[in-house]
Amino acid sequence: MKTESEIMLKGIAAAPGIAISKAYIYARQKEEVADSAVTDLDEALEMLDTALEQSRKELRKIFSLAVDKLGEKRAAIFEAQIMILDDPILLSTIKNRITNERRAPEYIVNDEISKYTDLMNASHELYMKERSHDIEDIKNRILRNFKKKKWKSRIANDVIVVTSTITPSDTVLFSRVNAKGYVTDFGGLTSHAAIVARSLNIPAVVGLHEATSRIKDDDLIIIDGFKGEIFINPDEKLLKEYQKKIVKLAQRDSDLLKLKDLPAVTSDGKEIQLLSNLDILDEMEIVTQHCARGIGLVRTEGLFEEYEAFPDEEEQFKVYKEISERMFPGTVIIRAFDIGGDKVLPVDLHEPNPFLGWRGIRLLLDNPSLFKKQIRAILRASTHKNIKFMLPMIASLAEIRRTKEIVKECQEELKKEGTAFDKHLSLGVMIEIPSAAVLIKDFAKEVDFVSIGTNDLIQYLLAVDRGNEIVSALYQEFHPAVVQTINHIIQGGKESKILVSMCGAMAADPFAVPLLIGLGLESLSVSASAVPLIKRIIRNIDCKEVQGLAKECLALSTEKEINDRIHKYFNHKLQDQIKNLY
Ligand code: PEP
Ligand code: MG
Repeated sequence: MKTESEIMLKGIAAAPGIAISKAYIYARQKEEVADSAVTDLDEALEMLDTALEQSRKELRKIFSLAVDKLGEKRAAIFEAQIMILDDPILLSTIKNRITNERRAPEYIVNDEISKYTDLMNASHELYMKERSHDIEDIKNRILRNFKKKKWKSRIANDVIVVTSTITPSDTVLFSRVNAKGYVTDFGGLTSHAAIVARSLNIPAVVGLHEATSRIKDDDLIIIDGFKGEIFINPDEKLLKEYQKKIVKLAQRDSDLLKLKDLPAVTSDGKEIQLLSNLDILDEMEIVTQHCARGIGLVRTEGLFEEYEAFPDEEEQFKVYKEISERMFPGTVIIRAFDIGGDKVLPVDLHEPNPFLGWRGIRLLLDNPSLFKKQIRAILRASTHKNIKFMLPMIASLAEIRRTKEIVKECQEELKKEGTAFDKHLSLGVMIEIPSAAVLIKDFAKEVDFVSIGTNDLIQYLLAVDRGNEIVSALYQEFHPAVVQTINHIIQGGKESKILVSMCGAMAADPFAVPLLIGLGLESLSVSASAVPLIKRIIRNIDCKEVQGLAKECLALSTEKEINDRIHKYFNHKLQDQIKNLY
């Protein structure tokens, strides 16, 4: 029989690295309704006011967004929610109870608002039952805002967070309390929470299915983000083994950092543009330390940890300006908000297929006022002339042309106001929907550059949800259709003489890099923490040789054959570069 110390669970290696620490089981429910005694009444009442004010602010922004798209009638739900937040009877009942009972404000809020929803649910009228969801919604919004405040003020405690699913904003929030790793029951390799974990350099293993049922608070956990394995209460021998691996890994990282000032050039002298992605502002430090030559993708939606409220023009301007100045003279490609999919939508639309729904450019074109705020902020920040602008989720030319009209409108406005901006701001698009890949040459006539988003391209090309661990084995970057499509995009871009880059996670996979360079890709943008390793791979590649490798791979017709061919190349040519990595 296996002892408790030998329990090993296997999932998907979502963010590399190794950590050993105590488990913290994060159950949303547990956070939301904690019933604790209040010692400082003023502080408790102030927390209540802050959570209510933040919720009002979010709802006002959501209301203005929803009104454009959903019409007055459906948007009225959010207006009604704001009214509930201002209801004097409800507010005074909550405040009186906190004062008299000295119980945690979130507990009282939950208890009071639940009285309404319980009554409504008990009603025989369908309308009442449906409205109870809206009230539930507002309750959860307030509770979430309590939680954020609490987490931000909590002292660092170095835990490994174990949870059923994790959102991108949870990932950021936990990193602020020094989380050492993430372990989840559900989720896929390129889900946005996994991407954020990689950006933050925090190991993550996702899709374990039984993590929350097998692990208890304070269990000692080893997380191996390279192999996708976790160990619960490991024995001394295993613990020592992993402690040694951590030391070795630190040595590897410091060796890699020695390359930081060297160019990303192949052994036969071809220079590759190696840029970094930027998902959250905290990453700026790593980007500059690792000496990426610029930023190939700023995920603007990720810069605003809250996800529920859009920053206004002035707030955005400041952020974009700061990034531009810190990277100058390096290029900074700012992507328009890619909201939707698994990047939580501020309006809960209950879309049946969010990845095929109201996401990216679709949402922006339906909300021109929101889109214009972002474009104006980018234009105003572009005076150093190192900013480029990129559009997500483009499926047709009409979307590019409509965006260009809006950019023009913004330029006219700024001109009239006498505000400076870069008149030659480059415009590019993500190639991440199969229709865009097919139409690459037509797109190339409309834009200055393109960047391949493999995370979505693979998902849409192979019809495999990027965030669903059940089908993760079918999410294959070396599927022949993927390799041939990437080749089609690169060749199309070359014929049209526009720069083709790649900013999806495939560009950061050491095994994919020789193939990509062999296919003719000259620009890669990878998560900041992956820059040194990818540079090392590039510096050990011979261009002619990988061109041969790519040619062979293009002629193969199964994923297994391509995978085997690439591993054979690695074993022959790059074994020294990878042998100490995993
Ligand atoms: C992609 O789809 O590859 C990409 C870079 O965009 P995101 O991961 O933000 O969808
Ligand atoms: Mg994408």
